This record gives sequence, structure tokens and C-alpha cells, in this order.
Amino acid sequence: MKSIVVIEDDPITRALLQQTLRRDGWRVLEAEDGEAGLSLVVENRPAAVLCDLHIPRRNGFQVCRMLRAQPELAGTKIIVTTGSRFGNDRLTALAAGADEYLVKPILPADLARVLPNVGADPVANGQVAVPAAPNEPCELKNVGLFKTAFPDDSDLRTTVRFWGVRGSLPTPGPTTVRTGGNTSCVEFRCGDQIIILDAGTGIRALGASLAQEFKGRDLHITILITHTHWDHIQGFPFFGPAYSPTNKLRILGYESAVGGLRTALFEQMETAYFPISLSQMAGRVVFEELEDMKFQIGPVAVQSVFSNHPGICLAYRLTTPGGVVVYMCDHEVYLRQERLTQERAGKPNAAALEFARREDEKLARFIGAADVLICDSQYDESEYPSRLGWGHTCMDDTVALALQAGAKRLCLFHHDPDHDDTKVDSMVERARLLVEESGKTLEVDAAREGQEIVLKAATAKK
Ligand SMILES: [Zn+2]
Ligand SMILES: [Zn+2]
Repeated sequence: MKSIVVIEDDPITRALLQQTLRRDGWRVLEAEDGEAGLSLVVENRPAAVLCDLHIPRRNGFQVCRMLRAQPELAGTKIIVTTGSRFGNDRLTALAAGADEYLVKPILPADLARVLPNVGADPVANGQVAVPAAPNEPCELKNVGLFKTAFPDDSDLRTTVRFWGVRGSLPTPGPTTVRTGGNTSCVEFRCGDQIIILDAGTGIRALGASLAQEFKGRDLHITILITHTHWDHIQGFPFFGPAYSPTNKLRILGYESAVGGLRTALFEQMETAYFPISLSQMAGRVVFEELEDMKFQIGPVAVQSVFSNHPGICLAYRLTTPGGVVVYMCDHEVYLRQERLTQERAGKPNAAALEFARREDEKLARFIGAADVLICDSQYDESEYPSRLGWGHTCMDDTVALALQAGAKRLCLFHHDPDHDDTKVDSMVERARLLVEESGKTLEVDAAREGQEIVLKAATAKK
């Protein structure tokens, strides 16, 4: 009998695929994450694997690579199934060893097209081991460097401060002074927990400020990385606290499409690019690659979700006793991307539009009634068409997403390098107009360097 392993974290998609495949005579084995999927493939040596790209515990790119590292599984056909229509993701998946790349929604005809010639499962020949992770393993996991609980929740002052709000490339100069020219970096504090969201160039000034504040005292910092595109990591080599031997830095994030988190940060400090290597930083820097979509940083509960951006990019939802902050820095709203793609191709596809709408709804549910939503708003309506598929959002859609979610406050973020202060002001004005027209309530402003938002003030100790 021919078997197929379906690795898919969305239960509805999984059920639909299973139904179609069973009808076509397949023995279907299912897994919700990469790790479980790899085990099923090794145990069963199926004729084919259907693998989503955005799955926890080893993303789909890694699953492809790990399976292709096993010569005994060479006969197994790997079909990537994904909501990503980014051309680069297709190339990366094929380079990782996928035989086919199907964009969701997957129709029975799509499966029939890519699975026609597969007969029975490959004959067992030699031992197959559980594939080892090709990247450096997460090192010093759960090192317990940081407090895990605070004795009194009522004293957890929660603040957000922007140190870098620009997307893509730093843009200093007289025309961006009010908004700021540094790339993504947001400081999040809850009690004495310091969490830094992304390490764009804004992290340099943040490092100097922390050194000033903590004169002589040890710093314990968590850096939470959304993805390893350069504008989100390029400031890290200039982060002063990493050079002090008494400071402890814990860097958290997910493996990228092509390699581990540590590898990306390590490589940008190789000799060709930087005079000091990461291993020469005197501070105790530890990396922890995240596997689950929910985790805890001290008193802060964090949830993550894959955003619609080339490669692997996550959005984070941080919940504290003081409120909820969602950081969705790089994201392209699905529906407009799908609609415009169809218009250009002259191929209307109602099922694909419906799929895109549902993906947007999922993200709106993830945001929920966040107190603060920091969200990609890189383009205006006139710019978006020429930047279709670049992984960023038209500001009108950001406002619509925030309204759909029921967020209370929206900070327009990841400003385009071409947008000077006047342009940013005009986008804020339009965003407020859109909110007014909706009849709903939403506070909107542009994220600006130096701006601080207090979610909850500290209460006096009893
Ligand atoms: Zn970015
Ligand atoms: Zn990016």
C-alpha cells in the first residue's frame, strides 16, 4: 500500500488533505509539527510527504533538508504545501530538497497532478536514523539565567520604548529626525525583566542607555528575534552590554529558512564583515532556538505566530499583568497580495481569495484586543502595487487588521526608507481618517524613536 505523511499544523487543512488522499487510496499518517513528522517518515518510509512550511518544532525548510540528508529516503517524494506565494520561498524549498511546491488552498486536482506516478512505498533498504539537525543545536538550553517569577504582580511596571522604527535600511538625516532612522529595535520592560524585540541598528543606543542606567550592576537581558533579515540583526555587533563579562544575554528566536539563529548572528560577525567575532564578545551570550509557539520569559507570557513574509518570520504577543503588546514588524496582509496577484495574472480564483481572507482572520484573532499593536505599515496605497510580494503591508490594510482584531492602540512601524517625516505624518493622518470612517475606536500614531508607552505604572510597595 502507498503511504503518505502529512505534516500540517492547521487541523482544518489537515482534515481536508486527509479526506482527499484517503479517497485516492493513500494510507495517511499525520503530524502537527516538524519533529513528529520526521519521526513518522523515518518509521514508515512513505512514498510521499506533504509538508507545510510554517510549522513549529523544525520548520518545513528544515524538514526538507533533514530528510534529504538521508540517502535511504531518496525515493520519498517531498511536496511542500504553503500559504506563502513568495518566489524566494519556492526557490529555498526546492533547494532544500522539495520536489514540488504547492500554494494553498490545495485542491484535489493539485494533488493528482503532483502525485500521479508514485506507486507503492519504497522497499526498505538499510537503516534510517532519525535525522540529526543540520544546524548547530540550541546550546545551553534553559540555562536558568533569569528569574522565572516575580513575587508581587502589582509592582510590574510595563513599558514599551522605541529605539529603531525603520524598515529595510537605516535612514539618518535631517528629513527623518522626528521619526528616526534606525532599524527595528523595541525595548519592552516588565518589572525588572528587560526584553529587546529585534536587534536592528536602534540597539546600539539602547545598549548605551542601559549601560548608563545600570552603571556597575550586572545586566540580564533577553533579546527576542522575529527573523534574521539584516535590518533586524545588524545592530547586534554594536550592542555594548554584550562586551561586558558580567552581563548575561539570552537570544531567543526560531530557526530561519536556511539555518539556525546562532549561525545567522555568528556569520554577520565573520572576518569579512566585522573585526570582532561573536565568540570574542566578553558577555555571556547564549542562544535558544524556540520550538513551541507559546513560552514564558519571566512574568511575560509570549505567544508567536508565523507572519506572511519571505523566509521564516514570527510575530510575538507579549502578555503581562499590565496589558498585551503585539509586535508584528514584517508582514504582508494576505488578501490584498492575493487579490492583486490574481488581477495581474488575469486568473480569478475565489477559493484562493477565501483562503487569504481566513489567514488574515487568524492573525486578527492572534492580535485580539491588544493594548498596543506594533505593525508593519511600510507602504501607502499608491506604492504597494509596485512592491507586491516584498513581504510588507499597505498601511490601509494595517489599520483594517487592527480594527478587525479590536486592538486599542496601533503604532505604525517598519517605516519605508523613502518616507521622510512629512510622509510619515501624512500616513498617520490618513490612518486616523480610516479609523474615523470605520466608526470604531482605535488610537493610531507612528512609532517614533525615543517614544515610550506605559502600559502599567509601578505601584508603591506596601
Ligand atoms: Zn524588516
Ligand atoms: Zn524581513
